Amino acid sequence: MIFQSTRGKQRVSLDEALVMGLAGDGGLFLPLELPQFSTDDFAAAKTVAETAQILLRPFFAESALAPELDEITRETFRFPLPVTRLPVSGGYAGLLELYHGPTAAFKDVGAGFLAACLTRLQGDTDNPLTILVATSGDTGGAVAAAFNERPGMRVVVLYPDGRVSERQAHQLTCWGDNVLSLAVQGSFDDCQALVKGALADKVLSAQYRFSSANSINIGRLLPQCIYYAHSSLEHFRATGRKPGFIVPTGNLGNGFAAFLAKEMGLPIGDMILATNENRLITDFLGGAEWLPRPSIQTLASAMDVGNPSNMERLRSMFGEAGEIRQRTQAISVSDEIIQKEIRRNYNEFHLATCPHTATATFAWRELDDSERTEKDWIMVATAHPAKFEQIVEPIIEAEVPLPADLADILSRPRHFVKIEPDAEALAKALSENFSN
Ligand SMILES: *Cc1c(COP(=O)(O)O)cnc(C)c1O
Repeated sequence: MIFQSTRGKQRVSLDEALVMGLAGDGGLFLPLELPQFSTDDFAAAKTVAETAQILLRPFFAESALAPELDEITRETFRFPLPVTRLPVSGGYAGLLELYHGPTAAFKDVGAGFLAACLTRLQGDTDNPLTILVATSGDTGGAVAAAFNERPGMRVVVLYPDGRVSERQAHQLTCWGDNVLSLAVQGSFDDCQALVKGALADKVLSAQYRFSSANSINIGRLLPQCIYYAHSSLEHFRATGRKPGFIVPTGNLGNGFAAFLAKEMGLPIGDMILATNENRLITDFLGGAEWLPRPSIQTLASAMDVGNPSNMERLRSMFGEAGEIRQRTQAISVSDEIIQKEIRRNYNEFHLATCPHTATATFAWRELDDSERTEKDWIMVATAHPAKFEQIVEPIIEAEVPLPADLADILSRPRHFVKIEPDAEALAKALSENFSN
């Protein structure tokens, strides 16, 4: 399979796209042609991993990883990704729970798959590959968990000290010797600038074999198609109906994966995107121009994105703005409504929802009565409410029990190094903590 940049015409193999992340021309990689599937193709797939093996096989046809695809998918999809039916009156409403992985959010799926692939392609115990990741909270934990103790791989996590929650800080700093956690005395932008600078530094890059694991890597996108494929197939087999999906959206990585699955022939109905008060996608789908803006802080902080990068992929796949507007709609949800929605979900369904997931349940409630009851809907739960207990617990006036994996992480000892936000401090921390 050939992958092509959304900008220039750079074409690469899957293995090259996995290692490069971003295309040389600054664009994002997309498959040149999408394989087409019918629901019968998946008749033999009982588990998520088996669905993944069938769906991903064409993408890996010429990859050095092809013989290991089955093992990679078993490794990635080792935690459940269930749909729970909600007790609604009229129609079908389900919740696709993507939060049963090690750090209790959907990013565990993409990070785990990318780690499984990159370790096999690039792992070298004599000269490890070093993944640099700047994080405002969630991504760094998922990446650290995914690469933790993988031979021939190291991770450096840079996060703004004091600007992430206690539980997030713990998830960023409780890993093995191959993960170096740096508490940067500055902002998230400082962390990002440090990573960019280090990646551009030829001497350091050669010494540590720097790479990144950012969310636009095709290796994070492809595995995200799998839970849409598997859950829609299960629903279709049971009911003969195609479920629509409602996806909480920031950078549009998770949502784009659903469009991709639908384009490949999976039984997916309507697509609705739910955003927080960062309204760019909603305004664009409503007819406004695409004008990126600075992000604003909201309760659904993992969706605080002012310039969602995967829109470039959606435009590349569907072409004109009008085409995109025909295929999906979006709704923007304020913090006040997120809070109301968390309370309402708890009162009506006895369901604790994280602030991101609450944007999706609100979008479902806002559907016309006929749309809501005549079509089947699956709302995507992107994180476990226990990750955002400081927001959720006061609203529902109850404690959210910790999932076992998260409890395990929070019981581990933390280790981290404080650094000033400058390149010399980063270089010093690297040389003091890594032997080459
Ligand atoms: C990252 C994240 C999102 C947004 O996903 P995108 O792929 O950026 O649209 C939503 N919810 C949670 C909990 C996240 O961590």
